[in-house]
Amino acid sequence: MTAVEIAAAVRSGQRSARSVVDEYLGAIADGDDDIHAFNLVTAAQARARADEIDATVAAGRDPGPLAGVPVALKDNLCTRGVPTTCSSRILEGWAPPYDATVVEQLRNAGAVTVGKTNMDEFAMGSSTENSAFGPTRNPCDPSRVPGGSSGGSAAAVAAGFAPVALGSDTGGSIRQPAALCGVVGVKPTYGLVSRYGLVAFASSLDQIGPFTATVADSAAVLDVISGPDSRDSTSIGDAQPPVADTLGDGVDGLRVGVLSELSGDGISPDVAARLQAAVGALETAGARVAQASVPAAVYGLSAYYLISPAEASSNLARYDGVRYGLRVDAASTPDMNTATRSTGFGDEVKRRIMIGTYALSAGYYDAYYGKAQKVRTLIINDFASVWEQFDLLVSPTSPTTAFSLGERTADPMAMYMSDVCTVPVNLTGQAAMSVPYGVGDDGLPVGVQIMAPALGEAVMFRAAAVLEASLP
Ligand code: GLN
Repeated sequence: MTAVEIAAAVRSGQRSARSVVDEYLGAIADGDDDIHAFNLVTAAQARARADEIDATVAAGRDPGPLAGVPVALKDNLCTRGVPTTCSSRILEGWAPPYDATVVEQLRNAGAVTVGKTNMDEFAMGSSTENSAFGPTRNPCDPSRVPGGSSGGSAAAVAAGFAPVALGSDTGGSIRQPAALCGVVGVKPTYGLVSRYGLVAFASSLDQIGPFTATVADSAAVLDVISGPDSRDSTSIGDAQPPVADTLGDGVDGLRVGVLSELSGDGISPDVAARLQAAVGALETAGARVAQASVPAAVYGLSAYYLISPAEASSNLARYDGVRYGLRVDAASTPDMNTATRSTGFGDEVKRRIMIGTYALSAGYYDAYYGKAQKVRTLIINDFASVWEQFDLLVSPTSPTTAFSLGERTADPMAMYMSDVCTVPVNLTGQAAMSVPYGVGDDGLPVGVQIMAPALGEAVMFRAAAVLEASLP
């Protein structure tokens, strides 16, 4: 059943929330030893919450639009009293004293959180292999990675452990794993969804968004989690119209650009062929398709891998052995800080902190961080002119299908290349999503990325619905 179907059945009393939650907890118990999508399953809490929802229905009160829908949360979303690890040793033993806004919104809508999902440590990675707790496997082929950094969330939905999961996307961490696992993944416009209670990686880029099996389910979840929040100063002040209402409006007359810089060089031929098929489907549905060019997009990856580590080096300074989780004692406070951080952080996190500190240091600031910010402005300007001619842009989400475990761990550059198609819209703050569109030569899922201007979610979802309906 889809999330929308579950909510309808629970709301009407046709199915109990408890039976739904028991079914998904059963699937996790049966299957997650092989996949490792979850760091923690909160089964008792989930059952208790489901019983509350059933009592609300029995009393004739409104249980909310997502009544009884099980939701898995990426383990960088704060949950009150429940460990939130970011898949890092440095948060060992820490539990947040508050819930993230999105967690509150989901609960108020009747959803039932079932656990916390595995991820690359502090969301740094593209394969979920940078977890202190071991990798997650791709449910479509357990010898492959699920993508990352929200690989546990993508795998949870793909494996049928939860109809909905939340992830975070700083450079592609929702869209890329969604593509590799064959599910829908959405990175909303910067500021549309509150980040209060999301552990910060790179604050000018981070966004929270849903993973689901269907486009309509993602729309339903986005409508619940979007909206202003006074506790996040970057939150957009005006509420937006629900995207679910216009889902069926089609693409007739819409101008769709195929983004040349992200669709040619380095894209595997089978992935490129699936993009062409998707473009054909949009044309058949009445869209006017042409090539589009955003010349500065080719610098996206370089700018991203300076700006995001720079921000991360600052955000991660708070893990000092005093305020959170792990402490490794030593003779002096500075030695304790060093011992704690040396033990608590994994290699990739250390690499990012060093790159970021270097890019921000006196003497190198202008050449690296300052230059990257100028490139970011160029990319924003190039997209702005393209939006004068197009309503939507499309590209592959990932240059390849899911790669094998271990294939790219020894080569950080090869790993970073996984994000070449997804990072540009994080730099601009625009909306984007990945929709599964068939399989590659290896039989593994391919995702098509749809990009929209800021707050263009409604139009973006219309195109996503057309693509989904055009699949056999
Ligand atoms: N894979 C990218 C990185 O390693 C993106 C991560 C993300 O979006 N959180 O930084």
